[in-house]
Amino acid sequence: RDISIKESNVAKIKVVVRKRPLNKKELSRKEDDIVTVSDSAFLTVHEPKLKVDLTAYVEKHDFCFDAVLDEHVTNDEVYRVTVEPIIPTIFQRTKATCFAYGQTGSGKTFTMQPLPLRAAEDLMRLLHHPTYRNQRYKLWLSYFEIYGGKLYDLLSDRRKLLMREDGRQQVCIVGLQEFEVSDVQIVNEFIEKGNAARSTGSTGANEESSRSHAILQLSIKKQSEVKESKRNNDANESKSGKVVGKISFIDLAGSERGADTTDNDRQTRIEGAEINKSLLALKECIRALDNDQIHIPFRGSKLTEVLRDSFVGNSRTVMISCISPNAGSCEHTLNTLRYADRVK
Ligand code: ADP
Ligand code: MG
Repeated sequence: RDISIKESNVAKIKVVVRKRPLNKKELSRKEDDIVTVSDSAFLTVHEPKLKVDLTAYVEKHDFCFDAVLDEHVTNDEVYRVTVEPIIPTIFQRTKATCFAYGQTGSGKTFTMQPLPLRAAEDLMRLLHHPTYRNQRYKLWLSYFEIYGGKLYDLLSDRRKLLMREDGRQQVCIVGLQEFEVSDVQIVNEFIEKGNAARSTGSTGANEESSRSHAILQLSIKKQSEVKESKRNNDANESKSGKVVGKISFIDLAGSERGADTTDNDRQTRIEGAEINKSLLALKECIRALDNDQIHIPFRGSKLTEVLRDSFVGNSRTVMISCISPNAGSCEHTLNTLRYADRVK
């Protein structure tokens, strides 16, 4: 398979919905699948409702997105629809972001996990393309997490990180480890190492990781000609070289966690408020981008501040909204689709 180096006409913002299949538990409970994907862009949610006199009826909700992927679509196809078209633009000074949004259990991590590896493969292929071969371009990887409004490096024992803005409004994450990667095997090892380091409290992996945003970044940097370039404070001009373009993969916190603001546990409430704030701020930033607004409201949350440089200039955003098909998830599914609808 060959990947074109031409910058195709890639939309600035793309909103894709992915429906997962009913799982064993839902099947054993004989839950209805209430989501029908009618074609590659449309879907309908059949919401079970009761009238005042308790007669059951179904309310239909139709939605249209850039792409709707049903339960038979493979991760490879997800890659082809979402990330693959953006890859060539990374070499043309684009900062791209790919988000997975949805309630816990809707398939965000399942969808997101394979994407960076495939992207790294394609980026490396382009690095070796005659057009770029002599450019001293290198691929760099970093992986961190935002949990309760704080940043942790997933590739250096969850070291706490600080975010700083320099005079030129560039975001710098102080202490974030970045690694040059030159083969796919190593990329895979870093991804697995980072995944293993994600927040997993005593309550179980999915429970805790559902309260954090995981951010994996792949950057193409141009190595400086002089080996030890003189130190300066520009986050983009470290020893590793100047950033040409980058792509960030963000496995967002479970969207339902934003509603944890009335929980009995204080810590849970604080985390819920932070998640709610960041998901709202993200929506506002993407909308501002879409309207070509000069002022992008980054400061709304840690998440959007960290992604600030990906929202200015030449940017591409892909939002993958993951939904569960079972009747019991109807409310969350409608919330996710309405969020996605506001973004597109
Ligand atoms: P989330 O990250 O949104 O909490 P997960 O990605 O962990 O959700 O998915 C929950 C469960 O559903 C996992 O066991 C996962 O393997 C399964 N799953 C999710 N999406 C799909 C899919 N499209 N096809 C098959 N299984 C899926
Ligand atoms: Mg997950």
